[in-house]
Amino acid sequence: MSGTTLPSQVGVAIIGAGIVGLAIALEITSRFPGKSVVVLEKEPSIARHQTGHNSGVIHSGIYYKPGSLKARLCVEGAEMLMGFCKENGIPFEACGKLIVATSENEFPQLEELYRRGQGNRLNGVRLLGAGEIHEFEPHAAGLRGIYVPSTGIVDFREVAEKYAALIALRGGLVLLSHEVTALKRAGTCSVVETTKGTIEAELVVNCAGLQSDRISRMANARLDLTIVPFRGEYFDIVPAKRYLVRSLLYPVPDPRFPFLGVHFTRRSRAQCSPGPQAGRLQQDFHKHRRHRRLRVLPRLLDHGVEALENVIGRVLPLQQQSRFRPGPAETGPRVAPRGFGTRWIRGTGPGSEPVR
Ligand SMILES: Cc1cc2nc3c(=O)[nH]c(=O)nc-3n(C[C@H](O)[C@H](O)[C@H](O)COP(=O)(O)OP(=O)(O)OC[C@H]3O[C@@H](n4cnc5c(N)ncnc54)[C@H](O)[C@@H]3O)c2cc1C
Repeated sequence: MSGTTLPSQVGVAIIGAGIVGLAIALEITSRFPGKSVVVLEKEPSIARHQTGHNSGVIHSGIYYKPGSLKARLCVEGAEMLMGFCKENGIPFEACGKLIVATSENEFPQLEELYRRGQGNRLNGVRLLGAGEIHEFEPHAAGLRGIYVPSTGIVDFREVAEKYAALIALRGGLVLLSHEVTALKRAGTCSVVETTKGTIEAELVVNCAGLQSDRISRMANARLDLTIVPFRGEYFDIVPAKRYLVRSLLYPVPDPRFPFLGVHFTRRSRAQCSPGPQAGRLQQDFHKHRRHRRLRVLPRLLDHGVEALENVIGRVLPLQQQSRFRPGPAETGPRVAPRGFGTRWIRGTGPGSEPVR
């Protein structure tokens, strides 16, 4: 299949050209070369939502319970991603990551992470004493730490672009500015309506990320989850102070807020961003506010701001704190209480709008 216009029929229609939709499309073109594949994306370019705005970390899998699906997928996925980058000339760096405990209360949690690292068979994970922390991050303060060498950084937008190029090479189509507006059944097929016409598909795969609930509702699916809008914000360390962080620096996660994940991210040699903080809810949050399972959220928001200040203050000693400024790139939310999704919010300033 080739071209930039919507064919009338297709084997598989995938909704959403983020990393998930593109990865699925690529896999189908390789496992089922005879199957026609179309990716429908509402934005004028790919990876415009979470994929193009995340922290760029190739996670090692240290946090996940050994034997769980998450652990297996994360460990295998990290290896596969690095292999893909090598094969396709995409820059990435296995820069390693340091998790630092700054109080004795955090020791049990840190030790548990170390056990999980061992259980997940991560190579070279080391439990560090205070003196050894400086070997990896000379400016970080801490009582104990864990060094995880297999964590890396990559630009997921570049990975997504490579996926899209390979899909096209194998005969698949990625159609931009094709927003899916309705889904209907027609016999054994589905009719997908888009802003640029209609296509009939044997199979539809919903990869619309934080708007996937909307797509599910179009298909009349009964959903027991609510996607709640959050916005995460990163800050930049002023250039003169970027030397303070060499790679990825994390505090011990607070088990009350496992989804927050505040950290220092070195996105590239040129940029170092502490964040995200979960903050500034957008308007449509308030309509979810009374939901029983969302009562934790106001606490979480306060915590988001505090957590960022804490990690700056605790992990890097105060006298070495750099000055932070709001980062140029916004991020999507990271905050999803169990059973909840999150909706990507676009924009950097107070007036930024939720994605349509
Ligand atoms: C703040 C933050 C930091 C993160 N950091 C990391 C990290 O460091 N490492 C990591 O591995 N993961 C990270 N993640 C998670 C990772 O970014 C996401 O899991 C991943 O990008 C999800 O990809 P996706 O394709 O599902 O969604 P998205 O990238 O959001 O793509 C969904 C696509 O669907 C399209 N779409 C929606 N509705 C329609 C419609 N009606 N018609 C057509 N198209 C539609 C959207 O336009 C969008 O392009 C982070 C996430 C966040 C929010």
